[in-house]
Amino acid sequence: MAISNKIIIITAPSGAGKTSITRHLMRVFPQLAFSISAATRQARGIEKNGVDYHFITLDEFKYNIQHNNFVEWEMVYEGKYYGTLKSELERIWNERKIPILDIDVKGAIHVKQQYPESSITLFIVPPSVAELKNRLEGRGTETAESLAARVNKAAYEISFKDQFDKLIVNDNLEHASMEAEGIIQGFLAQ
Ligand code: 5GP
Repeated sequence: MAISNKIIIITAPSGAGKTSITRHLMRVFPQLAFSISAATRQARGIEKNGVDYHFITLDEFKYNIQHNNFVEWEMVYEGKYYGTLKSELERIWNERKIPILDIDVKGAIHVKQQYPESSITLFIVPPSVAELKNRLEGRGTETAESLAARVNKAAYEISFKDQFDKLIVNDNLEHASMEAEGIIQGFLAQ
C-alpha cells in the first residue's frame, strides 16, 4: 500500500481520552501529521487558527459544503459544524506524511466508508458509561444538563462500536496509549 494513501482515524465518545491518545501517537510516529479540521465554533484559550482548527464562519463552511470540499462534515454540537477538508488530506499526503484525524463517531464512519482499504479506525471507549460520567463530573466543566446530554450521547455512540476496525478500552491511559501504538505500528508496516 502506498504510504500517501493511508489515513488514521481516532474516534470516541466525548471524555474517553482520544485527544491524549492522538497526541501520544504523534509523539511516537513522526510520519503522522494532525489533520486540521474546519470548525465554526470560536477558538478557546490558547487554540490557534490554522493549528488546532481552521476557524471559519458558517457562510464559509456552507460554501465548502456546496463546493464539495469536505471528505466529511457534521454538526457535532447544536449549531456548531466541524469537517475534514479534502485539501487538508492532500496537503499532508503531499508532504509524504499520514493524516491522523481526531473526529466524532459519525465523521469517522463516513471517512472509513470512503477509504475502506487504506484507513484504520480506532474507537476509544471508556470502561463503562458510569465511569465516563465520573470523568466528566471530575472535569468540573459540565452543568447537570450538559452532563446528562453528553452521557446520553456517549451511550448512543457506543452502540456503533462494531463499525470500527479496533476497539480500545481506556481503563488506564498509559495502557490504552500502548495498545494504540501497537496497532498503529502494525498498520504503518502494512
Ligand atoms: P472540540 O470542540 O471539543 O474541539 O471538538 C468537539 C468534537 O468534534 C470532538 O469529538 C472532535 O473530535 C470532533 N471533531 C473535530 N474535528 C472534526 C471533524 O473534522 N469532523 C467531525 N465529524 N468531527 C470533528
